[in-house]
Amino acid sequence: MTDIPVLDHWIDGASVAGESARTAPVFDPAKGVVQKNVRLGTAADVATAVAAALTAFPAWSDTSIGKRQQVIFAFRELLGQRKSELAEILTAEHGKVLSDAAGEIARGLEVVEFATGIPQLLKGEYSENVSTGVDVYSVRQPLGVVGVISPFNFPAMVPMWFFPIAIAAGNTVVLKPSEKDPSAANWMAALMKEAGLPDGVFNVVHGDKEAVDALLVHPDIASISFVGSTPIAHYIYETASANGKRVQALGGAKNHMLVLPDADLDLTADAAVNAGFGSAGERCMAISVVLAVDSVADELVAKVKERMATLRTGDGRRSCDMGPLITRAHRDKVATYIDVAAADGATVVVDGRVVEVDGDASGFWLGPTLIDNVPTDSKVYTEEIFGPVLSIVRVAGYDEGLAIINDSPYGNGTAIFTNDGGAARRFQREVQVGMIGINVPIPVPVAYHSFGGWKASLFGDAKAYGRQGVQFFTREKAVTSRWLDPSHGGINLGFPRSH
Ligand code: NAD
Repeated sequence: MTDIPVLDHWIDGASVAGESARTAPVFDPAKGVVQKNVRLGTAADVATAVAAALTAFPAWSDTSIGKRQQVIFAFRELLGQRKSELAEILTAEHGKVLSDAAGEIARGLEVVEFATGIPQLLKGEYSENVSTGVDVYSVRQPLGVVGVISPFNFPAMVPMWFFPIAIAAGNTVVLKPSEKDPSAANWMAALMKEAGLPDGVFNVVHGDKEAVDALLVHPDIASISFVGSTPIAHYIYETASANGKRVQALGGAKNHMLVLPDADLDLTADAAVNAGFGSAGERCMAISVVLAVDSVADELVAKVKERMATLRTGDGRRSCDMGPLITRAHRDKVATYIDVAAADGATVVVDGRVVEVDGDASGFWLGPTLIDNVPTDSKVYTEEIFGPVLSIVRVAGYDEGLAIINDSPYGNGTAIFTNDGGAARRFQREVQVGMIGINVPIPVPVAYHSFGGWKASLFGDAKAYGRQGVQFFTREKAVTSRWLDPSHGGINLGFPRSH
């Protein structure tokens, strides 16, 4: 155990071991071995990070917008030059294949680029002469120290949904990344320092529930941005709100793809395979259920199966299509759904447990799995599996498909595949989901729109990034101003009116 490296926190611009005696193992999921241990922070470690962030806040929030913008520009340049280093970290700890890791970084970089536009985004509004000689204007100011808690499946992109905008807007940050793949957070924090960010503006505390709970109740934390599973998102929302914080808590998902009979079935099958098995299904915008209209279901299933046979599962460093799952426990849990499916009367078309793998036998492998005729009361349908298991639910037509999607407690993403513009338009209006794809299977909005679901996929009213992200990390101040002249004189106890 002694020669396994330990990953420390990043506080006030340096690695800090902190107080905790507890650590958690960080695996290389393609090899099934522990490659490092990560410290699990205590409430005292969180307090140290928050104190550093609080100390850094006055100077950082007072730094000119132009100077803050320059740091984000510099970070963008450095990240562009060194993104392959970060991709290797992601693949080594998460397991996703290198090309997918590069895609994750590219989508995070989009938000960094959006944040370089902060001068434009922070501009306030001005109304002249709302009453004689009276002007009203508004400005947006940072909140203070903001907390970010992120999941394992996007260890670089999800933190980048938040910290570039929060920091550009003048806040200071404490990030608690997933303990399963924690190194990307330290790497990005060190790169921000290299980009010119003052110490204490961006801090990383590693840990589990203990560190999270300390953040949720800390009096100097102004807001919490959370991404993770629905039960934890709900807990975070309730606890942080009860402690007076602004909260955005993005939860889990079960994303449906409705395939109408007029869709191009070859292109649709490509999309279903890409969106179902990319990143081994460990994406909150993965397609996990295909709703296939009966008349084309057999043909679609055959096409999906044919494509699945071409996928190479293996070590993400070996140009495979799909990597391992994050831990052995998660791999085993996902695999149990295949037995549940069979017991519930579904048809296991492709069983990922028998996959041939290009990687060490001890990796956390599960191949692409296809299950047809899934009953909607089976746990295979009702639960978020978060693995490479694609379910087919057969429906009579558009109305039944729509009703199934709208009955789901989740509302993160969904897609319709059709060449019928009228049906697509109806779907866009009628479906109760936050992000819709029309012939686009993973409709993750670009950085200048905002990302977030409905229902149990998002608690709070602010989506991530885009204009909503800027609003979340700032508060508006409205100023009513006049320069007194004799016309403002006289005694009048009535409520001031503009006319
Ligand atoms: P998770 O909920 O287990 O963990 C998320 C974060 O919460 C981690 O930092 C973890 O340390 C912390 N945490 C875990 N248990 C906790 C507890 N009991 N109390 C306090 N904190 C706790 O999620 P995960 O397994 O890391 O990530 C996968 C989940 O995230 C999936 O459900 C996926 O759909 C969801 N997700 C959602 C989105 C979205 O935008 N809606 C994006 C990515 C992932």
